[in-house]
Amino acid sequence: MERPTTFADARAERAEAEFVVLGVPFDRTTSFRPGARFGPDSIRQHSWNFESYDLETGVDLSEVPIHDLGNTEEFGSASAMVASLREEVRPIYRAGQIPIVLGGDHACSPPVVEAYPDDGPSLGVLYLDAHMDFRSSYLGDDRSHACSSRRIVEKVGAERVVVFGVRSVSREEIEENRAIGMSYVTAHEIHKEGIRAALDRALHQLRTDRIYVSLDIDAIDPAYAGGTGTPEPFGLTPRDVKEAIDAVAPRLAGLDIMEVSPHYDQGNTSALAARIAREAMVRVVAARDHR
Ligand code: MN
Ligand code: MN
Repeated sequence: MERPTTFADARAERAEAEFVVLGVPFDRTTSFRPGARFGPDSIRQHSWNFESYDLETGVDLSEVPIHDLGNTEEFGSASAMVASLREEVRPIYRAGQIPIVLGGDHACSPPVVEAYPDDGPSLGVLYLDAHMDFRSSYLGDDRSHACSSRRIVEKVGAERVVVFGVRSVSREEIEENRAIGMSYVTAHEIHKEGIRAALDRALHQLRTDRIYVSLDIDAIDPAYAGGTGTPEPFGLTPRDVKEAIDAVAPRLAGLDIMEVSPHYDQGNTSALAARIAREAMVRVVAARDHR
């Protein structure tokens, strides 16, 4: 591996930044195969692959103030990670900045959502994942990556979360959700309806002022994103995710990209994750400038 570096084009001081990148090299709750702790630095390295100028929008990321905080410390338990990450992210929202958090396993997402200020504009969460992640507890840990959508529902309410691209769930999760009522759009529905119609359905549910996007990279088909801990076939295409990011960008409150486990492929997944993070920043800037 090359030496860890900052995210590409992240040259701004923290106080001036519009976007704040933060890596969380934590993967202690992975259930099948570990390695997402190497995600943040691999995504950073691959971010240098791309031109700063964006062909579609004309936005040049070299002119956009981005700051990279580097990685959090390494944590011994999920509860320690949760407590520390919340405190690290809280001032980013308070400063009116958009956090771009690179995981790490999906246990790292709920604390980023929980850090969102209670007195801020209403928040919805678009949760892209192959898995429902709706267990109340998994292997004795209620902060496992298998419980993340459930923890997020507890923060923002079931009516403000849509799981998008799901195709793997336990019977218990589906039955428990019947009472709780979190919305979801399956990968199979997206394939049948087309991404536009499926997104319209999800965004109809999320009529909030601000939207947080949590991207478990395994939402994308393992043919494109095999560098992950729990690959699940019949997934979304990278372009489906681009459409989702582009649609949400005018209201983007924060973005995380989790579960990139770079040692299981040749860099494709890290490159895709880096490109999606850059797409989000480009589209936020383009939406603001053309309002
Ligand atoms: Mn997940
Ligand atoms: Mn997943």
